[in-house]
Amino acid sequence: MSTHYDVIVIGLGAMGSTAAYQLAKRGQRVLGLEQFGPAHDQGSSHGGSRIIRQSYFEDPAYVPLLLRAYELWDEIKRESGEEIMTVTGGLMMGPPDSLTVSGSIKSSKQWDLAYEVLEATDIRGRFPVFNPSPNTIALYEEKAGFVRPERSVYTHLLHAEKHGADLRFFESVQSWEAHPSGEGVRVVTNNGTYEAGKVVISAGAWAPQILKDLGVNLQVERHIQMFFEPTRGIEPFRVGNQPIYIWEADDNVQLYGFPSVGIGAEGAKVAFFRKGKPCTPETIDRNVHSDEVDMMREYLAQGIPQLNGRFLQGKTCMYTNTPDEHFVISAHPNHPQVAVAAGFSGHGFKFASVVGEILADLVIDGKTNHPIDLFSPQRFAYQ
Ligand SMILES: Cc1cc2nc3c(=O)[nH]c(=O)nc-3n(C[C@H](O)[C@H](O)[C@H](O)COP(=O)(O)OP(=O)(O)OC[C@H]3O[C@@H](n4cnc5c(N)ncnc54)[C@H](O)[C@@H]3O)c2cc1C
Repeated sequence: MSTHYDVIVIGLGAMGSTAAYQLAKRGQRVLGLEQFGPAHDQGSSHGGSRIIRQSYFEDPAYVPLLLRAYELWDEIKRESGEEIMTVTGGLMMGPPDSLTVSGSIKSSKQWDLAYEVLEATDIRGRFPVFNPSPNTIALYEEKAGFVRPERSVYTHLLHAEKHGADLRFFESVQSWEAHPSGEGVRVVTNNGTYEAGKVVISAGAWAPQILKDLGVNLQVERHIQMFFEPTRGIEPFRVGNQPIYIWEADDNVQLYGFPSVGIGAEGAKVAFFRKGKPCTPETIDRNVHSDEVDMMREYLAQGIPQLNGRFLQGKTCMYTNTPDEHFVISAHPNHPQVAVAAGFSGHGFKFASVVGEILADLVIDGKTNHPIDLFSPQRFAYQ
């Protein structure tokens, strides 16, 4: 007799780990399946840090979810004792009419979030490592900071197990089948066949393969996280002295970075937000090339000269983009017993805590009170 599960979670990364945790905590019998080990570096959830912020330039509709995400990051900290989120303050910099600045101000105003607007001279005065051009301004948000992706995944998995989840690693899902009645699923792996009432599919960059009939054109992109050694010591780049930042240059390229979080041999991490190359998890080039480092250096030389020191390491990572760069979080359009979390388009991690709660709502109640209309796959149905 095989164990009977209420729900199977396919993919235990950012979203699958929080879903397994929330579901197990609410008493569901959970089977979690992951093709790699816990908190691995082959997908989208590694590299030590991910920005979290509330003044969301992408769309004000994300703000209520962010407020709940912050509460849940605090909750897992209370339950585990692990510091996953660190608040450092954040600068959203660019020309006044840039999306980074104007979109952040719009979200803050709409949701009455506290913020300051800093002129270029104020930015330089308060955070001397930055060298903004005279037409650059910034929204400064006190509540912004970063979350630690590996620690989040690992901690949620550990606590999912504590609440009774059965998690299997190095087990790869080959296919899944939803019963046409709307009840029941069968999942086939390299190791066996499992049945359950419901399934959560949170497969990250593998979603295009495992969710072929979702009706969303998901494109995977290769991105690079780069660590540089500051030229005048790490002190100005430590938490406490340095906020997280997103910087839209005059050519609209968005650069973002973090204080030193103690990995990368004391370097600080910096990356481009949207300058990835199309790839698949099978074809991704994991090497970082000197022309890619040189391109980053051009921006650092101008904007953060003190960070333009020795290149310490580069780590590739994948985005899974939807056509409008908004997420997909929904019941599967053809199968009510299948909950999907996909297409996080390079900005999903900060939401992982609340996405787990939403997925648990969808599985257990068939609906959620969180505002997720923006994330329906049906928005692409008539395009
Ligand atoms: C360079 C980079 C920087 C980023 N910066 C930020 C940031 O600053 N702030 C922010 O909020 N977000 C950021 N993101 C985005 C964020 O990290 C992602 O949106 C998020 O990690 C996606 O989580 P996921 O659960 O969808 O994917 P993953 O965490 O990759 O999880 C998917 C899991 O499914 C498993 N899987 C897939 N197929 C199968 C199968 N068939 N069988 C078994 N297991 C399977 C995979 O092995 C993987 O573990 C960044 C991403 C990158 C790459």
